[in-house]
Amino acid sequence: MQKEKIEGIRKQFFVDLETAGNEAELFDLEKKYLGRKSEFTEIMKSLGSLSAEDKKVVGPLANGARKEISDAIEVKRTALRNKGFDFESEKIDITIPGNKRGAGHLNPISLIVNDIQDIFTAMGFEVSDGPEIETEFYNFDALNIPEHHPARDMQDTFWLKQAAKNKKNGSEERLSMRSQTSAAQVKYMEQHTPPFKIIVPGKVFRSEATDSTHEHTFYQFESLVVGENINVGNLKFVAQEFFSLLFKQDVKVRLRPSYFPFVEPGFEFDITCTVCHGKGCKACRYGGWLELGGAGMVNQNVFEAAGYPRGKYTGFAWGFGLERLAMMKYKIDDVRLFHSGDLRFIRQF
Ligand SMILES: [Zn+2]
Repeated sequence: MQKEKIEGIRKQFFVDLETAGNEAELFDLEKKYLGRKSEFTEIMKSLGSLSAEDKKVVGPLANGARKEISDAIEVKRTALRNKGFDFESEKIDITIPGNKRGAGHLNPISLIVNDIQDIFTAMGFEVSDGPEIETEFYNFDALNIPEHHPARDMQDTFWLKQAAKNKKNGSEERLSMRSQTSAAQVKYMEQHTPPFKIIVPGKVFRSEATDSTHEHTFYQFESLVVGENINVGNLKFVAQEFFSLLFKQDVKVRLRPSYFPFVEPGFEFDITCTVCHGKGCKACRYGGWLELGGAGMVNQNVFEAAGYPRGKYTGFAWGFGLERLAMMKYKIDDVRLFHSGDLRFIRQF
């Protein structure tokens, strides 16, 4: 008797299935034939009360019909979903070339910084960094810059309204936007014992009027080497090696006596003109040399500020503005272009 009942349900289901025209109707159908309150569920539940012999016949029959119904519903569901979907027109042609997206350009300053870091790390230098907001101690005092030096004037330095507490004696200290990457020197020395070789590329700030060769925000690069027998010859060699690699030509360095509070002796340094190789041209005003930056042997007062015993170490420091270098390398005639945000400028690199 159960056998006929199952067959009846099965037949009726396939008749009903033909009439289900959308997914909602199909869902109702599923509920009716396979749901908790369906006749099928009742039959499954009653299997327990059947004789062992009947169970052997009815069990597989019921399970088989149930699976058949459930499969038929899935097939119909897929068919309903795909109805009205044109596979041919929706096909994606993966052989059509895509749209090219702009990858962006590096600012020439970034290009120069990358070059500098590559050259110096190959020579065994460590790349160091420091904060752009610095205390008066690290930016001036520790670098042996006298209290009334004009560099500390409002006209030259951006001072902040906020002050900082000195960690050692608790006194209030003025804060400024660092006016030179040298501000990172003593900080590094406080945490490291010589010998070491570092470079510090970074952004610096000066309170000054801008024109084609002056900016209030620009990049500097600083190199510091400290050990027990470092001398001016080492400085000259490293500088010459660096510029020769950077400009991919034989570059000579010339030192001229000069004064900076943080070095003794101090020098201005020039390099042979990269345009005429020292013969004389318009770029070097026919002198064969280009002025580039400042250098010198680290003043013992600076070592003392870092906590090193006076006279134990010697070292050299030198640095220059990166904009000037980029202007030379890429023949750019206005320093303000670097921070202009003008895409016509950036896209050339
Ligand atoms: Zn020249």
